[in-house]
Order: sequence, then structure tokens, then C-alpha cells
Amino acid sequence: MPERLLKFVDIVQEHPQKRAATARTTDFQEIFEQYLRPKAAEQAARCSQCGVPFCQIHCPLHNNIPDWLKMTAEGRLEEAYEISSATNNMPEICGRICPQDRLCEGNCVIEKGFESVTIGSVERYITDTAWDQGWVKPPAPSQERDQSVGIIGGGPGGMAAAEELRRLGYQVVIYDRYDRVGGLLIYGIPSFKLEKEIVQRRADLLEDGGVTFRLNFEVGRDATLQELRDRHSAILIATGVYKARDVALPGVGLGNIIQSMTFLTASNRKGLGDAVPEFENGDLNAAGKDVVVLGGGDTAMDCVRTAVRQGAKSVKCLYRRDQENMPGSMREVQHAQEEGVEFVWLTAPEAYLGDDVVRGVRAVRIRLGAPDATGRQTPEIVGGSSHEIAADLVIKALGFDPEDLPTLFDEPGLSVTGWGTVGIDFRSRMTNLDGVFAAGDIVRGASLVVWAVRDGRDAAASIHSYLQDKVAREPTQVVDSENGGSDDKGKGKRKTNRRRARQSVG
Ligand code: FAD
Ligand code: SF4
Ligand code: SF4
Repeated sequence: MPERLLKFVDIVQEHPQKRAATARTTDFQEIFEQYLRPKAAEQAARCSQCGVPFCQIHCPLHNNIPDWLKMTAEGRLEEAYEISSATNNMPEICGRICPQDRLCEGNCVIEKGFESVTIGSVERYITDTAWDQGWVKPPAPSQERDQSVGIIGGGPGGMAAAEELRRLGYQVVIYDRYDRVGGLLIYGIPSFKLEKEIVQRRADLLEDGGVTFRLNFEVGRDATLQELRDRHSAILIATGVYKARDVALPGVGLGNIIQSMTFLTASNRKGLGDAVPEFENGDLNAAGKDVVVLGGGDTAMDCVRTAVRQGAKSVKCLYRRDQENMPGSMREVQHAQEEGVEFVWLTAPEAYLGDDVVRGVRAVRIRLGAPDATGRQTPEIVGGSSHEIAADLVIKALGFDPEDLPTLFDEPGLSVTGWGTVGIDFRSRMTNLDGVFAAGDIVRGASLVVWAVRDGRDAAASIHSYLQDKVAREPTQVVDSENGGSDDKGKGKRKTNRRRARQSVG
């Protein structure tokens, strides 16, 4: 073992510098600075190079973490990048927004006595350096294949699959109903966690590698699933989950009660330079308001922290369980608390109050009772605890369910589970429809970026073997000139889209 490693006894854990709360709440820039090279090497050297690396086991991509930490500690960054990018299509994004405390770092063996290796920050450092040095290259297939794959949804699941398939030489078309590629990376996650240029350069890389983007194209409105199946040799559904959960409370029709994605999308669009009239006229803007956010997940954390940055008068987060039982990342809660968010634990809304526009929430206190079948303690209302909380903007962040895809896609034969997610065979990753695969949140339900990347990669591998088999069975394939990478019309559209994105980003 080189002397450079195993430094966890002598060197304390140090994350990159976090900007002071007073400074970071005045803008939407990321809150962590980048490591300097010696600091990244020093922190990577804390790794004890475990024989059984639990960090790797608990990373959904099974990243070869000990090896790229070793390379970083030894100053061999290009090799570190090669190893890290071999299993991950967006390491700099995962390094920024994975809940590492629940995944790799939470399972690092030195966590117990010495605090974990800062795996996510080193991963981010390696790939940001790779971008700066020009080591990140577009997919460059060694052979072109005639077969084309249509991917519905350009979020992280669709993007990861597109890159893998393009590397193998397939003609890949991403259809997305948004005007930009990236899905929730662009329109959900705020830029203080993930700046948009980081996502845009990944989208540009795909385009440079020959992936075609058909944006503002909604499957269900602009084509049925069957029409896409007729155009392509295989289809991947990676549409995510967007149907917001709700609670039926008295007063629900009052003004200024909105859904989290409406709020976050408006804020992200504003940051991207788009005209957002509902933001300008104050409807979707928290400035000067008493804001109450309902929910305890990561989306709720993004809403409260966005509201603070928009200049809200006060921001409260209501959650019916306690801090230990909330689904959101503890790190995010800590950031929000530092930024002035008040958490009202063990509290649930009972009614929205107001005449025309909301002026408050009537809430009740909750105690946690006996565990239910899943082991979670059941929330019980404390009698006589009804009280009023002032609010002139209420944001509901209660989670998401899948849309009704069989109806939306005009494909009643598409099999879905009892939760509405698309059913797949977990070995072949294919749905019940021949040549139609699925990946990401639309299969798992609302999950994480790193799982979407994993699914996208797995789906690409399955599509490849399916198409290989198909070639073996039917040697003559029809070239999809209308929709494949060599389509002039498509190229024109891609350029227009990229110009637009470049104009608006930054
Ligand atoms: P998505 O990212 O949702 O992308 C789906 C794409 O499909 C979208 O671009 C959509 O426009 C497109 N689409 C949908 N329907 C159609 C159609 N009919 N036709 C054409 N296109 C269509 N995860 C983390 O790991 N860390 C975080 O910090 C984090 N923060 C989050 C914050 C918020 C506010 C939210 C909502 C989620 C967050 N997540 C986070 C979860 C993460 O963003 C998702 O798990 C991930 O983006 C799922 O990827 P996906 O590719 O399956 O779907
Ligand atoms: Fe950790 Fe996520 Fe990176 Fe895996 S992808 S090593 S879980 S930060
Ligand atoms: Fe290194 Fe921690 Fe992974 Fe062990 S668990 S290999 S110490 S990062």
C-alpha cells in the first residue's frame, strides 16, 4: 500500500468550502466551492482501500471508488477520470447531488470513528477537472449501425441510455416535451444544487456525438407510442413521474396555493433567462411573502431554499413526522436551517384559510404512535391542538405519481403496476410490448438521479442484446432516414435548439 493512502487517522474530513449562508442566499449559485488540487489529493488519501469496499457496494452504479481515490491521491487524475467515467455517465452531477450520506459515504467504513471519505466531492473534482482539461469526449462509435432507438424523455435516465447506445453505433433520437434536455436536472433541481451549465454541457456532448433531439415533442400529443414503434427498431420509455400528489383540504381552491414543480420550474426558467410572466407578476414568486411548504422530502427542501433566495419574508416547512423520520437528506435540512428556514415538525395541515387568496394554514400537532406494518410509527392527531400559521403562499411538495401512460400514449396494451409505474421484466428490462423498454422514475417511482443513470445504462445494454438478436433473426433492417442521426431536418433542429440553449444558459 503506498504511503500516500490510509491517512484517515492523521487527516480530518474536510468538505469543500461552503459559502456563508448570508452570502449564498442572495443568489442561486452552487453553495460549495471546488477543492484545490492538493486538498482533493489529501482528502482522497484518507481512504483505507478496503478489501470489501462498502462504499462501492452501496453506490447504485457500483463505482470503483477505492481505485479513483487512489489515483487522485497519487495525482493521476486522467486515470482517475477514466475509471470514474467507466461506470457513470454524469459523475460530476452525481458528485454534486447524490444523497451521499445515505449511499456511498454513509457506508464508508471509516465513517464510524473518523468521518467518511468525502467521496462525492472528490468525484465532482475529478470530472470537473476532466472537463477543464478536455478529457471528456463525445461518444464516438467505431461502427455505425442502421438500427435506430427512440428514447421518450431526456432526463438522466434517457441521457445515460442515449450515450451508451450511441457509443455502440445506434442512431438515437431523444423525444422530450420540454424545450431543453435534462428533465428534472434542468426544471426541477435548483441551480444552487446543480448549475444549469453543468447539465447543458452534457446535452451538448450527446449532440456532438450524433444523438438527435426532438424537443417540444410530447408523445401522446405529437405521436402515439405505436407511431414511434413504427419509426424505430426499439423504444425506451424514460418519462419520469410528474403527477403531483395532493391532500383534499377545505379551502383548496384559494389563490396562491401551488404545486412544487410549478414553483420550481418557474424559478429555474427565470434563472435560465426565459420570460416567465407568472413570476414577474408575483404569482409564482415568494418575494415578500410568508411561505409555508408542505412536505418533508428533497423537493420540499428545494422549495424552502428557493423561497429564501427569492426574498420571502418567512419560510416554514410543515412535516407530520419528526426530523429522524423525514425522507429528505439530513444535509439538505442542515443547509435549509442555516439559511433561515423554520421546520415545524410533527405538524399537519387541516385547512387552508382565506377568502379569495390564502392567508393562513390551520394545522394540528401530531404524535407518533405504534408502528404500522412497514415499521413506521403512525402519525396521530393531538386533540385540541388546532392552531393557525400565517401564509400568503402555500407550496405543496407531497410527492409524485406516474401519469396514466397507457391512456396518454394511446396504448392500452402497455402493462403498468398497481402504482401506475411501467411494468418491466427485470432481467430484460423490456415491457410487455416487444422492443419497448423502460427506465428511471417511470419504473421505480420517484427516486434518484443515480438510479436513473443506472437504469438507463442497464436498459441500453438490454436494448443492444435485443437488437443483436433481432439482426441475427432478420438480417435486413430498414434504415430510419427520417429520424436517424443523418437526418438533415433533425440536424437543423438540433442546431437551433442548441443556439437557443446557449443563449439562455448563463
Ligand atoms: P426525469 O428527470 O423526470 O426526466 C423525464 C423526461 O421525460 C422529462 O424531460 C420530461 O419532459 C420527459 N417526458 C415526460 N413525459 C413525456 C412525454 N409524454 N413525451 C415526451 N417527453 C416526456 N435526485 C437526486 O439524486 N438528488 C437530488 O438532489 C434530487 N433533487 C430533486 C429535486 C426535485 C425538485 C425533484 C422533483 C426530484 C429530485 N431528485 C433528486 C430526483 C431526480 O431528479 C429523479 O429521480 C430523476 O431526474 C429521474 O430521472 P428520469 O430520467 O427517470 O426522469
Ligand atoms: Fe456516491 Fe453517488 Fe458517486 Fe455513487 S454516484 S459514488 S453514490 S456520489
Ligand atoms: Fe475507502 Fe471508505 Fe470506500 Fe473503504 S469504504 S474503500 S475507506 S471510501
